[in-house]
Amino acid sequence: MNNIVYKDRHVTVFQSALFQTNSTVVEMEDLVLVVDPAWLPDEVMAISNYVDKIRGKRELFLVFTHSDYDHIIGYGAFRPDKVFMSKAMAENPEKELRLEEALEFDDQYYINRPYPLVYPAADFTVFRDAVQYRHHSTKMTFYLTPGHTADSMMVVVWQIGLCIAGDYLSDVEFPVIAHSSVEYEHSLNKLLAIHDRNWFTRLIPGHGNLSLSINDWLQRRTESLSYIYALRESIATGVPMDETGLWDRYHFPMSQKKVHSDNIELMTGEYGQGLWSWRPAENEKSRQEDHEPDEQ
Ligand SMILES: [Zn+2]
Repeated sequence: MNNIVYKDRHVTVFQSALFQTNSTVVEMEDLVLVVDPAWLPDEVMAISNYVDKIRGKRELFLVFTHSDYDHIIGYGAFRPDKVFMSKAMAENPEKELRLEEALEFDDQYYINRPYPLVYPAADFTVFRDAVQYRHHSTKMTFYLTPGHTADSMMVVVWQIGLCIAGDYLSDVEFPVIAHSSVEYEHSLNKLLAIHDRNWFTRLIPGHGNLSLSINDWLQRRTESLSYIYALRESIATGVPMDETGLWDRYHFPMSQKKVHSDNIELMTGEYGQGLWSWRPAENEKSRQEDHEPDEQ
């Protein structure tokens, strides 16, 4: 089974039949890096076999972008030399729950795996932005990007201009805000600084098509922010969001309708706590003030 959707000298991306989940294998001179190996047993074993075939004497590093069960479900099929994750993921109080979700999924679909389902154990934890890890000539930089989950992070492989973003900037789903819309917005804004400090050109999202140009991921970032702002306006004004445009843009409404209503519920709670505000009248006023000098 060949589910490789992208391949060049350094990067191979496997995409699962489920939710277009991307698993990335990066080959550098001195290491092989695997990020979020996922989903069905045959798919995970195809990644594991591929790594065995190409690895040689190189060290094997595993990176997890966050603890959602679809992203950690392949962990047990690998024997890594080092495992990287955010400190929040290593200390996640809901580890057992994430594992239960994976077990429930397998139970529901009669799935047997030729490897154990376990929560990843960390060797290297990222506790702040721009933490670097060098292995001989390879440099990786990690950034904390909470919002989708509290424990999300991104990694940039410096030499090859590659950002592996976890569940952000997908072209098949709008923001899934399971943790905080304020942090989500902050993480999207942080992406510009991550780019300016690392000059990555390609970005791999957790789900959907790869983003292979700066214009493309900037466009996805704008779309993600627009979704958040439209939801905030709708919640603050009590005017339901017009969803027609949403389902024109994103083509899997069956499962995403539930995500959308979960987002509304979480953000309504945030609004109640005063975590963000939406004042269109004031925004309008300041915009007019900006224009005043032109009119004189
Ligand atoms: Zn995911």
